[in-house]
Amino acid sequence: MTKLPKSFDEFSNAKREGFLKVKELKEQGKDIIGTYCTYTPKELIMAAGAIPIGLCGTSEEPIQEAEKDLPRNLCPLIKSSYGFGVTDTCPYFYFSDLIVGETTCDGKKKMYELLKEKKAMHVMQLPQNNEDKESFNLWKKEMKKLKEKLEKQFDVEITDEKLKEAINLRNREREIMKQFYELGTLCPPPIEGSEILEVLYGAEFKFNKEEHIKEMGSLLEDIKEDYQQGERKIAEDKPRILITGCPIAGDSEKVVKAIENSGGVVVCFENCFGVKANEELVAENINPIDALTKKYLNIPCSVMSPNDGRLDLLSELIDRYQVDGVVDIALQGCHTYNIETATIKEFVNNEKNISYTNIETDYSQTDTGQLATRLGAFIEML
Ligand code: SF4
Ligand code: SF4
Repeated sequence: MTKLPKSFDEFSNAKREGFLKVKELKEQGKDIIGTYCTYTPKELIMAAGAIPIGLCGTSEEPIQEAEKDLPRNLCPLIKSSYGFGVTDTCPYFYFSDLIVGETTCDGKKKMYELLKEKKAMHVMQLPQNNEDKESFNLWKKEMKKLKEKLEKQFDVEITDEKLKEAINLRNREREIMKQFYELGTLCPPPIEGSEILEVLYGAEFKFNKEEHIKEMGSLLEDIKEDYQQGERKIAEDKPRILITGCPIAGDSEKVVKAIENSGGVVVCFENCFGVKANEELVAENINPIDALTKKYLNIPCSVMSPNDGRLDLLSELIDRYQVDGVVDIALQGCHTYNIETATIKEFVNNEKNISYTNIETDYSQTDTGQLATRLGAFIEML
């Protein structure tokens, strides 16, 4: 019989359990580096012997406090992240020796200017275009600047050898995460989208990567074994949904729940934490700094202009996951994703000939009724 509920619990508790682990790691003398974005080259941090930890706020809790400094109409992810920092209520922020940020959207980069009063901060200048040679050169310089900063602050040497080891480890982790989320290509999928999301988000708080890879391997084995033995918990005729857009986790998971409660099944998360972060590996046969520059510049986030990579990725995912409908999520105040909804709608409806809807939401639970009605009507139409 399946051991799955227990396995999923381990991942959904990962963030909470990580609080104790991070304290232990600090006591062992480990350096902790807080990050806020998929663009952060975690391999450089790992090669410096430090531990990267995601600090993105996913809860409404500290937003009221954040609004004392930040405008109310700012994206909830930024307000929540900032709120946890200024109220010192996030152990990960508290234990961070340094924060690495990038100049992605306007809200985030201006928030970093305020946050640097609380913590040591290193901001990488991210180019806004990922097609020009100049962008590659600029981003490569930023990689080198981060390497120098880490070497100086933590008194270590980041050799090519250490960097290659970190690249290989992260690639193996990405590969196993990819095998896991690709369970969604099966028809019917063996697990719910909310379970996929638990594991994808939980991975952010698995600090021992070798252990995490092993844990993922046995979770995958259990799921595949049950499926091969004929276990089906999702009906084959449920409409298959792909979620794209802003990152979702914590309080914004309400969108996934609303889809599932309306009879749909989320088979693919194109967002950060999912495909966007894991699909492309870092090349292991070229200079490691060049390889990191290439991989991270290629992330198809809406902060890039143009962002054609998002359309290419979506096109492939819609076909591979046999998607019936796309739900595009924009957090309130996220101008780049909100504006891109027009392009994505046109592409999904007219190029891929499937249904599309976009949802604008925040971290409050005040719109759960409205989400249920809108997504219910969308799923019914499919
Ligand atoms: S959506 Fe873009 S800016 Fe936000 S975490 Fe992902 S890559 Fe970074
Ligand atoms: S969701 Fe949008 S506004 Fe919020 S941090 Fe990400 S890119 Fe910036």
